[in-house]
Formats: sequence, C-alpha cells, structure tokens
Amino acid sequence: MSALLEGRRAVVTGAAQGIGLAIATTLAEHGARVMLADLDGERAAAAAESIGAGALGTACDVTEEADVDALVGHAVDALGGLDLFVNNAGITRDASLKKMTVADFDAVITVHLRGTWLGIRAASAVMREAKRGSIVNLSSMSGKVGNPGQTNYSAAKAGVVGMTKAAAKELAHHGVRVNAIQPGLIRTPMTAAMTPEAFAATESTIPMRRAGEPSEVAGAVAFLGSDLSSYMTGTVLEVAGGRGM
Ligand code: NAP
Repeated sequence: MSALLEGRRAVVTGAAQGIGLAIATTLAEHGARVMLADLDGERAAAAAESIGAGALGTACDVTEEADVDALVGHAVDALGGLDLFVNNAGITRDASLKKMTVADFDAVITVHLRGTWLGIRAASAVMREAKRGSIVNLSSMSGKVGNPGQTNYSAAKAGVVGMTKAAAKELAHHGVRVNAIQPGLIRTPMTAAMTPEAFAATESTIPMRRAGEPSEVAGAVAFLGSDLSSYMTGTVLEVAGGRGM
C-alpha cells in the first residue's frame, strides 16, 4: 500500500517550531514533499533540514500579501504543484481588556485573519485550476469557548472558522476542500510562555487530564490533507482531549 500522502505537495506556514514543525514532519512521514515557511527563513531552512525527505524552508511573513503570493509561486515551482496548504502561523498577545492595547489587538487579528485569508486566496487560485486541493486552517478552542485574557485571539480564531466555511462554500465545486482544526492546550513554545500555574489550571479542566502534543494536531492535518477525508469540507475538528466539548 502506498503512503497516505505519496506525491502530495504541501506548504505549512509558521513551521519553524511547535505545531507547524510537527505538521510538516508528519506530512513528510506520510510521503508528502513539504515547504516550511516562517518569518525567519534560516530557521525554516534548518527545520526543513531536520526533517529531510526533500523538505524545503523559506521566509514568509503571512501578513504580507507579496510574501504569501511569492510563497505559493515558489512552492509550485519547487514542488511541481500544490495539493495541501496549511495556515498555521500564529501569535498571542494576551492581556485583560483593561491592559490590552490596540496594537495587541491588531497584531493578533492581522496574523490570524489577514494571514489565513491571504493563504487561502493564493493557494486556492492554484488549486482551483488543478481542480483539487485541501486547505487546513488552524483555529483554536479559544475561538469556540472564549478565554479570558484572549479577547483578540478568541475573536481571531472564531473568525478563522467563519472564513473556513465561507471559503469552503466558494471552492467546493472547484474540487478544493477547506477545513479547520481547533487544538486545545498543546505543548509548544507558545504555551511555554504561560505560567506553570495557568498551564496546570487549564490542564486540570481537560477530560483526558493532559495537554496534547503537537504531533497529535499534525495527525488531524494529515487526515484532512489526504483522500481519507475526501467528502469533508467546511468542518471544524477539535483536537483537545475532550476540553470544551
Ligand atoms: P508557536 O510555537 O509560537 O509557533 C508559531 C510559529 O509561527 C513561530 O515559528 C512564529 O515565528 C511563526 N509566526 C508568527 N508570526 C508569523 C508571521 N506573521 N508569518 C509567518 N510566521 C509567523 O505556536 P504554536 O503553539 O505551534 O501554534 C501554531 C498554531 O496553532 C497557531 O495558529 C496557534 O494559534 C494555534 N494553536 C495553538 C495552540 C497551543 O496550545 N499551542 C492551541 C490552539 C491553537 P516567531 O517565533 O518568529 O514569532
């Protein structure tokens, strides 16, 4: 039996570390050629080298239209096409409403909403020509249930769900599927910034009684990027150990 993603060409944004790196690694393990994109091109290239399997790394700021368009063009040239695009890049700027600045709000909205939109637009332009493709957007359980201190991030991640469904409806008849994933608490550099108390308090609310690993999010992306999910579009998969169900 051939590998799940044999011959597929994939791009993952924000892939130098954390969930993005795990996604790129899992996709490569299942046979895909992967391009890892991140703000720092050298970190992306080093991450690609750590994966091997012909993985490539490149610089891309997902908030910049020209960067995202160039990323897709580069991927098509280097990989010979584009079958899977993963909008993973993300940031947090947590603060209470009392302390959050407009800059904190704008930064988070811009990376997640403009960044994901630019990725969907550029990737789908190529995929609709090919009449096939899968786009996976990283939302968050924070966008479903809302987290205190994350009015910016919860809004952005809920927005990613609406964007996913709208794009899925536009693109379905072109053979392009668009789905979202809502991870819960996952062990990455992003959540390492939480205080141990806050991390433990959140972990205690998870029915499975543990945080998730990046590879456990990556498994859902591999599924959504493969033909195993060929009749799924506009869906939101929760990868959260049962939290917020
Ligand atoms: P992470 O460890 O902070 O990694 C995110 C990566 O994205 C970093 O390499 C970061 O680069 C990069 N990035 C930031 N802004 C970018 C931009 N404008 N353009 C390109 N790359 C950019 O985060 P993570 O925990 O792996 O999270 C990955 C995704 O999952 C995010 O969308 C996040 O919101 C989502 N998520 C995470 C969790 C969790 O518990 N960890 C839960 C739910 C959802 P720098 O390091 O240089 O900033």
